[in-house]
Amino acid sequence: MKADFHLHSSYSGDSDTAPELVVRAGLQEGLSAICFTDHYDADYPYDDVSFELDTKAYEKQILKLRSDYEGQIDIGFGVELGLQPQLGELYRDYVGRFDFDFVIGSTHLVDGEDPYYASFWEECTPKDGIRRFLEVTLENMRAFDDFDVYGHLDYIVRYAPLEPRRFFYGDYGDLMDEILRFLISRGKGIEVNTGGYKAGLGCPNPCPEVLRRYRELGGEIVTMGSDAHAVEYVGSFMGEAQEVLRGCGFRYFTLFRGREPVFVRLG
Ligand SMILES: [Zn+2]
Ligand SMILES: [Zn+2]
Repeated sequence: MKADFHLHSSYSGDSDTAPELVVRAGLQEGLSAICFTDHYDADYPYDDVSFELDTKAYEKQILKLRSDYEGQIDIGFGVELGLQPQLGELYRDYVGRFDFDFVIGSTHLVDGEDPYYASFWEECTPKDGIRRFLEVTLENMRAFDDFDVYGHLDYIVRYAPLEPRRFFYGDYGDLMDEILRFLISRGKGIEVNTGGYKAGLGCPNPCPEVLRRYRELGGEIVTMGSDAHAVEYVGSFMGEAQEVLRGCGFRYFTLFRGREPVFVRLG
């Protein structure tokens, strides 16, 4: 079975893709289940893009697609929250107001700056920038833990001016271990985000070392998602991701319905 649990549509500020086109692309890819996880990043500090989410309109559209495509593909209503340490209460209240199937918590900002922009890296070394990203990730999950999985745990390596472009566990193991222990102790999962392949890293985010460590420490909940913002990436690299998961000692991946995990044997 193939599923994609990290998908963006035109309800996200950085995608123009109509939700129905995402569903059709999923069908074409042979996916049995998909979950929309459009962006909501409160207090996003840049003016060139807004990550506000018209959640009522979005929910209505996704529920309509769910009924239109019933029997062909399972369609989930999810969200990807851009976490920041000061947003705990706002997001607790927000999540309580909607019947989400699935909530991803992600770190997109480090002390109010997006490491996607080169200016972030002018103020710190690559290693210090990555460490600060992980420290903020810990602060974020301590402030708010009503998510199901933490998104793309090491994705900052997509933007760090590092050569080679990879996450060396030994350099950040103290922080990453603390993050993984925190998640496991609260029954939270992580995701395999195949956007890492698209970004040219040759592996998903997080990388196999992080996935293996999560498994070693007792973690069992791993969803799979492409992070597609355009139709051509829906369901992309899922075969590779399943292989990576098996290689890291997992026998199941996870779907969510109504915020409850469903375990699916890896193919
Ligand atoms: Zn994200
Ligand atoms: Zn995303």
